[in-house]
Amino acid sequence: GATVREFAVFVSGLMMGRLTRDLDEVVTKTTAGIILLPAEHYLVTRGSRDQASQDRIGKSACDQCSYCTELCPRYLMGYEVMPHKVMRSLVFSASGAENWNEWADLCCACGLCTLYACPEDLYPREACVGAKVDLRSAGRKHQQEKPVRPHPMKEYRRVPLSQLRHRLKVEEYEREAPYEAGFGQPARVKILLSQHVGAPAQAVVRPGQSVKAQDLVGQVPAGQLGADIHASIDGKVERVTPEYVVIGG
Ligand code: SF4
Ligand code: SF4
Repeated sequence: GATVREFAVFVSGLMMGRLTRDLDEVVTKTTAGIILLPAEHYLVTRGSRDQASQDRIGKSACDQCSYCTELCPRYLMGYEVMPHKVMRSLVFSASGAENWNEWADLCCACGLCTLYACPEDLYPREACVGAKVDLRSAGRKHQQEKPVRPHPMKEYRRVPLSQLRHRLKVEEYEREAPYEAGFGQPARVKILLSQHVGAPAQAVVRPGQSVKAQDLVGQVPAGQLGADIHASIDGKVERVTPEYVVIGG
């Protein structure tokens, strides 16, 4: 558990995960890990800025040094990803944003540009994520015409984990954390019916029904792409909504 009173939670990692303070959120099959940091930690305060503030800071402070691009793993692999060009869409937002956005389409949102490369502490990853949303809604897709060839400096621009931890200011939390089995069965679980790409599953159980772990509780409608959902504990169904099923042990 937390050793401080005020904290925030990174779901699925510090680099690619998302920040939340909602302790009622549930773990799903795509949750990769949970990291708690004190509320005043650098990553929490910078991650709490809304998009408008990130854009405003980027617009005033990006000097187009292009470090974000030079260290981008996708760029170094040979893909046409150039976050410094995407940042131009903030600066020249009255014209050409749709063209600058194209340089974000092949970004994998790894976060290295934002959390490691940028000397100004800006948000090129978030600019790329926003640009991709804009591209999708405009029905556009970037077509790379050049062959995908690794950059000659690729092997020399690898980021040491110790340096990354230093930049993220998390060195003091570095501990061996071996897997501990035997947490026991939780008394109650809330199981989301959409934990996957595609159509949400529809509940096939009703309140009061007894279920065993691994029983089917949600099924994807026939002919649609998705994943069926199963009970994680033995128990009785307490609640069913279009979004989730609650089972009490
Ligand atoms: S590294 Fe930062 S300052 Fe440099 S171009 Fe990228 S976003 Fe702008
Ligand atoms: S978040 Fe996107 S643009 Fe930034 S380093 Fe990762 S792949 Fe490159």
